[in-house]
Amino acid sequence: MNTQIKNRKLSLYNSLTRKKEEFVPADPERVTMYVCGPTVYNYAHIGNARPAVVFDVLARLLRRLYPHVVYARNITDIEDKIIAAAKAQGVDISVITKKYADIYRKDMGTLGVLAPDVEPKATETIAEMIAMMERLIEAGHAYAAEGHVLFNVPSFADYGRLSGRDRDEMVAGARVEVAPYKKDPSDFVLWKPSDADQPGWDSPWGRGRPGWHIECSAMIEKHLGQTIDIHGGGIDLQFPHHENELAQSACSHDGAPLARFWLHNGFVNIESEKMSKSLGNVLLVNDLIQQAPGEAIRLALLNGHYRQPLDWTAEGLTQARRMLDRLYGALRNLADVKAEPANDAAPDAFVDALLDDLNTPKALAVLFDLAKQANTATDTGTRAQLKAALIGAGRMIGILEMDPEAWFAGGGAASHIDGDEIERLIAARNAARKARDFAEADRIRDALAAQGIQIEDGPQGTSWRVAS
Ligand SMILES: [Zn+2]
Repeated sequence: MNTQIKNRKLSLYNSLTRKKEEFVPADPERVTMYVCGPTVYNYAHIGNARPAVVFDVLARLLRRLYPHVVYARNITDIEDKIIAAAKAQGVDISVITKKYADIYRKDMGTLGVLAPDVEPKATETIAEMIAMMERLIEAGHAYAAEGHVLFNVPSFADYGRLSGRDRDEMVAGARVEVAPYKKDPSDFVLWKPSDADQPGWDSPWGRGRPGWHIECSAMIEKHLGQTIDIHGGGIDLQFPHHENELAQSACSHDGAPLARFWLHNGFVNIESEKMSKSLGNVLLVNDLIQQAPGEAIRLALLNGHYRQPLDWTAEGLTQARRMLDRLYGALRNLADVKAEPANDAAPDAFVDALLDDLNTPKALAVLFDLAKQANTATDTGTRAQLKAALIGAGRMIGILEMDPEAWFAGGGAASHIDGDEIERLIAARNAARKARDFAEADRIRDALAAQGIQIEDGPQGTSWRVAS
């Protein structure tokens, strides 16, 4: 049914070369990946969740292929929006950043995103940023002016290669601030001065704080090395953020490239519209997980190819939930057979789809085919094999890890559903029925139904499940 996944070829679309290439790590004993993480001053929206989920799938795949993977995803905990939020609430920035970093980790955990191996914070990497800026100045790629340090874009001939933009587009696209101390309008800020009431660190250029881009270059150098295998993030970060990271790192490392592969996931639109504050359609993960199981949200994100824009719709989320009902339904029907889920139990066609630039839609089609086969198979051996294949394949993309009974009993329900409370209401309803107070019994049943909880009376008593 399947062959060992190790030694098989992984192809990934490299944004830098604009083609799909075979991925071969520089050191197969230590594969390195970095993904730009959240700026923690607010709740994460569904667009922020997409790279977390996509690169979680890639990290899971890399761990199957190689013995040692170091996956780093940073926390941006110093930024002007954080400072503004702290000022508005009259608290230290650490109060804001701790709160939202914790919420981010919890929300992503609900979506089945495993913690990265390293989670560096910008404020813990200031010394490395300063050292990097000093090297950039010494090499003639950066300069200090009026308490700022700026990267001199014309000093790096390759600037613009990653995003494929020419100079004029870059200046316009970056909405660069015109400032008298800039040598060139496209130069960008590495360090800027802090007022007395703003957080800051001492530096050779006075008390100040880093610009955003330098932190990723410094964190990658500190935790992963000069050249990493894969750098990932949303397509919105390709320019200017990734272009700037690439320039800073190459220029401070004698031209050594920052990353061998650059991967970008597509945008998330909401009901065919761009997600924006002004349209009022920003969907927060924290709200979505009150309405739907995290696993369904994850599946809805993986239901499209990661490089394509994803149109997030209420219908798509409902569909993802039904898809999981079908898959868990197949597993429930296989409850009588024992399957030892082995790591290599996923069928070749499923693995092949993932190895082909993370083609999750194609992989999911294989999963549904397995479910279909499982629903009609009668031979015990075949059914056991199909069960192992379903579980093994699901695990590779972070789904189907729950007991099917638990899924149907509401374990896959939105996190606001409180099982104890439901049990208490069911007991109250049964008591009402016993007392022949049918109006009260119906009222409780309807109240549960309004919460999406369906109850069924059977010979074993009353059971409940989340209506799909
Ligand atoms: Zn970054």
